[in-house]
Parts: sequence; structure tokens; C-alpha cells
Amino acid sequence: MNVLVTGGAGYIGSHAVQRLLRDGHTVLALDSLLRGHEKAIDRLRPGSGGRLIFAKLDVNERAGVERLLREHSIDTVMHFAALAAVGESVDQPLFYYRNNTSGMVSLLEACSAVGVERLVFSSSCATYGVPPENMVPIPETCPQSPISPYGETKLQGERLLRDLAEGQRRAKKPFAYAALRYFNVAGADRTGVLGEDHDPETHLIPVVLQAALGRRDGVSVFGTDYPTPDGTCIRDYLHVEDLVDAHVRVMDALKPGDERAYNLGIGKGYSVREIISAVREVTKADFAVREQARRPGDPPRLFADASRIRMELGWSAQITDLHEIIESAWKWFRQNPKGYGA
Ligand code: UDP
Repeated sequence: MNVLVTGGAGYIGSHAVQRLLRDGHTVLALDSLLRGHEKAIDRLRPGSGGRLIFAKLDVNERAGVERLLREHSIDTVMHFAALAAVGESVDQPLFYYRNNTSGMVSLLEACSAVGVERLVFSSSCATYGVPPENMVPIPETCPQSPISPYGETKLQGERLLRDLAEGQRRAKKPFAYAALRYFNVAGADRTGVLGEDHDPETHLIPVVLQAALGRRDGVSVFGTDYPTPDGTCIRDYLHVEDLVDAHVRVMDALKPGDERAYNLGIGKGYSVREIISAVREVTKADFAVREQARRPGDPPRLFADASRIRMELGWSAQITDLHEIIESAWKWFRQNPKGYGA
């Protein structure tokens, strides 16, 4: 296939590019480089299998995106390009609506102009907001009611796709999409080429690993009074390679007219304190831990019921050991202490 990967130089997007190239696809990777790293793309060039084209372009640049889609006969899109920090989205909501929602409108206009037939969208469990107690683990049928601008932009993305699909159906144009609702994504490519490099880094596992490396003076625990066994938030951490594998399976399964939504997680939750303990065990490093106030926009407990994708497509996470997930990220941070800037 000829696949456009938006956000192809970002953390998850670059892992998807790597996998698609290995599978022999032609990949057009787009990235504005606002948060992505061209060096991730450079690391993927040698011996990559399929054909890789990279363009520095924001998805908001509709005409440029449309031109590239035509030039490379793109039939399939994986849309990762987005801002992805819940706390930041609360502080800078319009930045999120501009990048995530407007960016997606613009991308979909280009896709529909050239007749893209399949689209796999990075959605999020943040679209569920605070799920009712009796709906954790969370199934896809849980009501979607986000409590952060980030979650809102992802829900808007799903709505855009639903409505576009209806328009394409009426116009008798083939189109299919899947919204993949990620829980927390962690770890790094186990061949040691790619990893996570955000600036600023706000996600828990990389933050704790940076503290273990001595690159920050300890870790803050945001909220210790949640209604959970140890008072800290519980999340479901899925290895990035498993996440990408789900994308590939979904892409291969999509048939014209399909509208699918799948939760992607391992189906088990860990608290912030459990993550900190696991990082201490893996790294054998010690570091300061500060208990702080809750971070706005954080639901107490989110972990997936991922049985729908298991039953329909036979996908389930293969790397389910938390230590193994953290170990892969630790390898990346030790070998690339300054990320791609090294
Ligand atoms: N968290 C924390 N300290 C940090 C970063 C995150 O206590 O330095 C908490 C955060 O409040 C949330 C959980 O860890 O409860 C996971 O946060 P992350 O930002 O990694 O992912 P999110 O679930 O927001 O997508």
C-alpha cells in the first residue's frame, strides 16, 4: 500500500513508519517538526525495506498535503499528528483545537479531494472522561464525555470521521475508517533505533526514567487523594510496538464502508506509585519523589477492555510485563540521554 503517516517523525508515528517500511509499504511521512524529530526519520532510512518519503509539512497546509497525496498515489492514511499532553491542553486549549481539530479538518479535506479509501485515527481513552465505576475496565460502548481539551479534540476527530463517512457513502465513494482509542503508550523500539523524545516531557514513564538518569531532580506525583487503593491515578500502559501492530492489523482489515472503534491497552492498570517502584527496580536508581496537588484533567482510573479487537481481529498485547515495557524505554534513555539531540 501507499501509506501517509502524519506525525511520522513523532514518538508513535516514527514507530509506525518503521513497521510499515519493514512490511514493504511505500510510506509518505509528514511532520511539522513542531514536536517531531527529523533525526528519527534519518535513523529509519538505512535498510528500511519499503520506500520512505519525508516532507516537513503541517497538516493544516491543506493544498500542500493534497499535492503530496496525489503525487504519491496515497490510498491509506494513519493520522498520528497531534499534540498529546492533557495538562498542556488545559492551559492552552486553543493551541490544541488549532493543531488537533483544525489540522484534522484540513487533512480530511485533502483526503476526500484525492479519494483516500482508508484512514486509521489515533484517538484516545481521554474521550471517555471519567467512566462510571461499573464501566472499568472500559469497553468501547462506554459513554464518551471528555474532561480535558485534549480529550475533546480526539472526540471531535471521531465525529469528523463519522460525518465524513456518511458524506462519502451518499456520494458513493469508497471510504473506511477506524478510531483507535489508545490508553497510555510507553516503551521503545527494541532494536534500539527509536524512542520517546518530547520537549517538554510530561508523560509519567519517561519523566521517571529521566529522574533515574539524574536528568531531573526527582518526580512529582500529581494527586495522592484519588479514590484508588494507593490514592494515585491508575493507567493502562501499552508497548508502542504492540500499539503499532494493532494499526497494521486494522489497516489490513478495513473494507469499504467500515466504521470501527477499538480500545488499545493491555487491560490492566498500574498506579503512579507502582510505576515509580517498577522504574526503581528496573533502573536500580534512586531519586526524590514529591507528592503534589492533582493535575487538572486527570480521571482517577483508566484501563481498557480490549476484547473487541481481540475477538474481531485476533489482536492482543504481546508485551504485557510492565518491567519489560520499562526496560525497553530505559535502554533508549541510557543510549540516547539527550534523545535525538545527542
Ligand atoms: N503523572 C504524575 N507525575 C508526572 C507525570 C504524570 O504523577 O510527572 C501522573 C498523571 O497525573 C496521570 C498519570 O501519571 O495520573 C499518567 O500521566 P501521563 O501524562 O503519562 O499520561 P495521561 O494519562 O495523562 O495521558
